[in-house]
Amino acid sequence: MPSVSKKDYYDVLGVGRESGDQDIKGAYRKLALKYHPDRNPGDPDAEERFKEASEAYSVLSDPQKRATYDRYGHAGLQGPAGGFNPNAFQDFSDILGDFFDFGGLFGSGGSGGRRRNRAQRGDDVRFDLELSFEEAVFGMSAEIQVPRMEACGRCRATGSEPGSGPTTCPTCRGRGEILYQQSFLSVRRTCGTCAGSGQVISNPCGQCRGQGYQQVQRRLKVNIPAGVDDGTRVRVSGEGQPGANGGPSGDLYVFLKVKEHPFFERQEHDLHCTIPLNITQAALGCEIEVPTLEGFHNLKVPEGTQNGSQFRLRHKGVAMVNGSGRGDLYVHVDVQIPTRLTREQRKLLEQLRDSLPVDNAPAEKSLFEKVKDYLV
Ligand SMILES: [Zn+2]
Ligand SMILES: [Zn+2]
Repeated sequence: MPSVSKKDYYDVLGVGRESGDQDIKGAYRKLALKYHPDRNPGDPDAEERFKEASEAYSVLSDPQKRATYDRYGHAGLQGPAGGFNPNAFQDFSDILGDFFDFGGLFGSGGSGGRRRNRAQRGDDVRFDLELSFEEAVFGMSAEIQVPRMEACGRCRATGSEPGSGPTTCPTCRGRGEILYQQSFLSVRRTCGTCAGSGQVISNPCGQCRGQGYQQVQRRLKVNIPAGVDDGTRVRVSGEGQPGANGGPSGDLYVFLKVKEHPFFERQEHDLHCTIPLNITQAALGCEIEVPTLEGFHNLKVPEGTQNGSQFRLRHKGVAMVNGSGRGDLYVHVDVQIPTRLTREQRKLLEQLRDSLPVDNAPAEKSLFEKVKDYLV
């Protein structure tokens, strides 16, 4: 792309930055009718103005491109993602075709055939990426390789061998359409040989066989934000398939699959883990080290801790993807009843048994009693 400083698109069309779609369309229509090459044959100045206006319109009529332009100016529209393709000159005659047909100015036989050159957005591309638990929790920068179509570097997407260019279509002699005479009616049809472009590739590029595009393995760096989860999709704007006829590229969607952690179980932004305590730790209380995402954390277990109770460690969970805080970590207690006792341990437990009060009224029974009381 030439590095000549470009005119502001709004200035080119003579509209304000807050103009609506209709104003922009109207302004372009006026300019296009005035400077259309058909109306100004052999006038390079008019052609330049027409191209300028068409380029400005192609950007300002596309909400996505317009937003990009508003934020970043011309620089934002360069590169493969949504750049203006000056070779796609013909698609503006499509837009014009709409105007002209609508106004009946040319009285042509319909613009249906020309629409095949209409700008089209490229397809979205899916890429599956597997992450470790920690990568999902802390975020990461992944280097991925995505197969997609890209403009051929040898011919710069022109489809012609370097040094040669497209030649005038022999069928339509460059007009892009053919005039059919049917009794007293004359009907214009899009030329089938050149699909309306007026040019044909006589010396196809050896690398892309004249397609202008070829499949490449594109290396991309994708930033995965902290806090993503299994099933999260990360959109990378403009990294899908390229558009046709100057249309914007599609988007790349990275589908995340997150591996399980051997210890932590994740529920949204909270983490859960279970720690075993022996009966004396639970009965007498203790201090233990519990694992967190950032290493070990000292946890004070009070005496008389019951099986199944849980401790909440605030803000020790997973970061919210939008950056507003973290979830919590829940530590669940699993009191382990010893299954194999030494003689010594058995003796100690028997002593304990003899000193503990026997209360065999199960919780269920007292509940049953309550229900019975209620019923009577
Ligand atoms: Zn090529
Ligand atoms: Zn032709």
